[in-house]
Amino acid sequence: MTDTVWMNWQNDQLGARIRVALWLHNEIGEGNRFNKQQLRQAIPDVEQVDRRMRDLRPAGWIIRTYRDMANLSPDELLLEKIGAHIWEPGQRSAGLRAISSKLRREVLERDHHRCVRCGISAGEPYPDDPSSSARLTLGHVTPHKHGSAAHLENLITECARCNEAVKHLTGVQFSAEQVWDRIQELPKREKQKLLAWMAADRRLMLETEQVWALYRQLPAIHREALNKRLGTVLGTGDGSAS
Ligand SMILES: [Zn+2]
Repeated sequence: MTDTVWMNWQNDQLGARIRVALWLHNEIGEGNRFNKQQLRQAIPDVEQVDRRMRDLRPAGWIIRTYRDMANLSPDELLLEKIGAHIWEPGQRSAGLRAISSKLRREVLERDHHRCVRCGISAGEPYPDDPSSSARLTLGHVTPHKHGSAAHLENLITECARCNEAVKHLTGVQFSAEQVWDRIQELPKREKQKLLAWMAADRRLMLETEQVWALYRQLPAIHREALNKRLGTVLGTGDGSAS
């Protein structure tokens, strides 16, 4: 058996991540578009093959979706840059560096245990899909270079849905017009807030929400005391809703 046959994306003896990398490298090529159906047809025997494709990002691969490129249609992907050749000996573990639990905790704390993209917190159901609840994960701000260590500045808290943009393609979809209708219903102040979030491509924490996150960290007895105190200041008695 020659190396060429062995190092083929059709070889099911290879790991799924390597097969996806080989398929993209040999069949698609840098700068070209493809879709998830093609990927699934090429490597049909692997579950969650698109997850394996996302696993290439920490190895320097840049794969764009319609979410970050306006000229892609929702089922299209663009192989912008081929990263580490993970099928080559010595490159196998590129991008597989584990994030320490300490670093993970630091990132989550800095981001107030919320997805910086959509603002959802862990376990909270999605407003547009109440049957599924959010799981928080760490994403990379920019695909990190092969060999560089994971660090705080390059990591952000994202929910699995925002992180797995490709998977989201199969999920609940609203048309741009439907979203625009909802935008128009917002009061002007809220529209301005939304515009700032759009510019930053993340949900900026409002001051009230920051205080809420701080309040939630307190033990129940202190929360109760603050609840009473604020209720008194606002003249609503014990602070409970009436
Ligand atoms: Zn999110």
